[in-house]
Amino acid sequence: MEKNFDIIIVGTGVAGLFAALHLPQDKRIAILTKADLDESDSFLAQGGICVLKNEDDYAAYFEDTLRAGHYENNRESVDIMIRSSQDIIRELIDFGVEFERDQGEFRYTKEGAHTACRILYHEDLTGKEITSKLLEQVKKLPNVTLFTHTIMVDIVEQDNTCYGIVAELEDGTFALLYSDYTIWACGGVGGLYKHSTNFRHLTGDALAISMAHNITLENIDYVQIHPTTLFEKTQGRRFLISESVRGEGAILLDKNGERFVDELLPRDLLTAAIREQMKKDETDFVMLSLQSMSSEEIIKRFPNIYQTCLEAGYDITKEPIPVVPAQHYFMGGVKVDSDGKTSMERLYAAGETACNGVHGANRLASNSLLESLVWAKRAAIAITERYCPVDFEKCRERFKNIENHLDTRYQPYESRKEEHCIRLREQIEKERENREKIKHERIDEFEYR
Ligand SMILES: Cc1cc2nc3c(=O)[nH]c(=O)nc-3n(C[C@H](O)[C@H](O)[C@H](O)COP(=O)(O)OP(=O)(O)OC[C@H]3O[C@@H](n4cnc5c(N)ncnc54)[C@H](O)[C@@H]3O)c2cc1C
Repeated sequence: MEKNFDIIIVGTGVAGLFAALHLPQDKRIAILTKADLDESDSFLAQGGICVLKNEDDYAAYFEDTLRAGHYENNRESVDIMIRSSQDIIRELIDFGVEFERDQGEFRYTKEGAHTACRILYHEDLTGKEITSKLLEQVKKLPNVTLFTHTIMVDIVEQDNTCYGIVAELEDGTFALLYSDYTIWACGGVGGLYKHSTNFRHLTGDALAISMAHNITLENIDYVQIHPTTLFEKTQGRRFLISESVRGEGAILLDKNGERFVDELLPRDLLTAAIREQMKKDETDFVMLSLQSMSSEEIIKRFPNIYQTCLEAGYDITKEPIPVVPAQHYFMGGVKVDSDGKTSMERLYAAGETACNGVHGANRLASNSLLESLVWAKRAAIAITERYCPVDFEKCRERFKNIENHLDTRYQPYESRKEEHCIRLREQIEKERENREKIKHERIDEFEYR
């Protein structure tokens, strides 16, 4: 296996793929994924992708993002994301992505906490449409090599500079892969939780590596719970019932079949209201009814949700379905600047792994695909503009000791996965408690005064 690359990208979701498409074609690029190429959360996105429809919507879109984020958002980042959105959509279309249209004009939908319809979509499979088209394009690039079932277990670092990664290869051996630049696009943390809509292999690996190498993290306790996932008694990944179902008029019912909440509240507030209702009703779920839509509308607009629910024993055109909140999205992550640069030299991050502050304390629905694409492109452009190669011979000499003892230094990922998940969850919980403590101290101080 080739061991020297110009750029290594960890992750084959939208962030990793889009970064690869924006890097110079004279650079040798490796892209790694822990799983198969279609096993990333990017493939699962149902609802859609936000876009600035026209100048008149700028202020409302900005305000909706901030309000959902409890005004803890980085305003510069929000502005960058919104201002970049039209270019990103144009690029996606050039790469072959198709969005729903009506007589040639885009159709826009709406989700929770949006005050206007500004979300582009492709049936209820927007993520699959975007990611598979990007993957097709990346596969055409002669300078890119894709490695599946290859796990980043560490980075090689000296003096706060990243010189590549340590990977566990498909055959279980370890390899040190050198690079001039590394981009983390490793997705979220759902695999740490019992109930999550995410793929189980997304276990916040970049966070654990950051902690070991003093790379700055931000808001790692900001974990979003999605209010409506299909309630099932079995363990494993939870199936998402997209917010756009509520956006199109579906309503939530308590155990008596009564509506109990505004279904388009921001996700955190709606989750709290559902949990409160479940407690009151002493149930493990509430019901979601699509009765305001005709069967034809449901099947046309939500074919994937319709089919999956049918397989689980529910016909959503005829009956309400049981839904329950589950872990869904990670607003915190590896702290990056407006170019996606981390606190370590030669190391960049984009997508759900990174925290650029766009989402604040809570993400506005359908902002994450967009944010991932915007920062992946920015990271690729920044790397291209600053490009400065490292001397691989010197690197080899410097890290000879690590390279010669990889098998004794590293344990197989599977054997330490459980401990890794427990430790990271505890760290996230500790951060949450600290934040609560600081908040209460502030309130106490205020009351005392
Ligand atoms: C069910 C569901 C529905 C969603 N719907 C929407 C929506 O409608 N609109 C929207 O904007 N957002 C939506 N999201 C969120 C959005 O899909 C994600 O935030 C976004 O796709 C993240 O992209 P990413 O490239 O950062 O990560 P991902 O697409 O998750 O990719 C992560 C990649 O990193 C790899 N990886 C991780 N760790 C390692 C490692 N140690 N070594 C090697 N590879 C590694 C994984 O194998 C994977 O290839 C949804 C999410 C889910 C789960």
